[in-house]
Amino acid sequence: MTRMKELVLATTNGGKVKELREMLAGRDVVVKGLGDFGVLDEPEETAATFAENARQKALYYGERLGGWVLADDSGLEIEALGGKPGVYSARFAGCDSENSRERDAANNAKVLGLLKDVPDDRRGARFCCALCLVCGGEVQLEVQGEVRGVIGREPRGTNGFGYDPLFYVPGLECSVAELPAEKKNAVSHRGNALRLLLERMVGWLG
Ligand code: IMP
Repeated sequence: MTRMKELVLATTNGGKVKELREMLAGRDVVVKGLGDFGVLDEPEETAATFAENARQKALYYGERLGGWVLADDSGLEIEALGGKPGVYSARFAGCDSENSRERDAANNAKVLGLLKDVPDDRRGARFCCALCLVCGGEVQLEVQGEVRGVIGREPRGTNGFGYDPLFYVPGLECSVAELPAEKKNAVSHRGNALRLLLERMVGWLG
């Protein structure tokens, strides 16, 4: 197996690139994001599962950039809504604002409205994250991480993004948006998926 020297995370989200860099600190790997390659067309995320979306994205950028490419897809599944918003998490409320904070607020308001009459013991949910690693046009590894919790009754906190202000992890007496970044990473679906990926990459990493 070729020694990995450069890994491209298929995202323009600088926060995700930073997170992966921190997790790989001290290893013989340079982590880059799509921002390091100028603007690239984006593939449509049309699949029915997080895993398929992550695979499509990884193969798409793997073909264009060559080398090792890691892609992720994530979202929220709410039990009382039959798993929605799922792969439609980003635009659940149909808000087209350029401003991600406005899109997040619209999504959170929609979720709270749909769960208005749902009792506390039926507000279970999970965040899921699928990761796909490709090299040479071929899938090398696929993993998934999750974190289970419950949906609160009002948004709380300003850290993080997306549905964090609504999501409570058992044992932590606050919403995910009230946690500092490193505490979120320690319990989050993305953190769990990345830890699993890194465990499986042992031997490839320097
Ligand atoms: P992406 O796959 O990271 O683009 O996430 C898709 C959507 O899922 C986001 O726009 C959020 O609405 C939601 N989501 C994913 N991860 C998180 C998270 O860690 N916290 C809150 N919302 C998230």
